Amino acid sequence: MDFDPTLRGNCILCAEDNEVNQMVLQHTLDEQSLPHVIVDDGKKAYEAWKALDPKVVLMDISMPVMNGIESIALIRMDEQAMGKRVPIIALTAHALKGDEERFIEAGADYYMSKPVNPNSLLDMIDQILNPPTTSVLTS
Ligand SMILES: [Mg+2]
Repeated sequence: MDFDPTLRGNCILCAEDNEVNQMVLQHTLDEQSLPHVIVDDGKKAYEAWKALDPKVVLMDISMPVMNGIESIALIRMDEQAMGKRVPIIALTAHALKGDEERFIEAGADYYMSKPVNPNSLLDMIDQILNPPTTSVLTS
């Protein structure tokens, strides 16, 4: 896969196979001028993660070729050798009790159920990219 080299280290990687959900993600991120790349299966997500070094990964769970859980596992395995960790938000239509724990256990840091609420997603991304600074009080 070829990517715009200026996106490296500077984008949000979205893995989502559903076209309507892709459009929602694209529209939401475009509105905030957040550079992003959308891929449609877990294998492409893993390859794109290697090529792009994204700031955040949005990972659908149910995808063809390779699902989100397997893709996250590959990313986390590589990262152990690299000594870094990309924030991953699992996106899933699954709403079964215990799913959140399953995705976190698989290596996701956050969890958002679909259909994705654009404002909630942007809030989550903003908190990841701009964590609140701790003010130190001196006497
Ligand atoms: Mg899917």
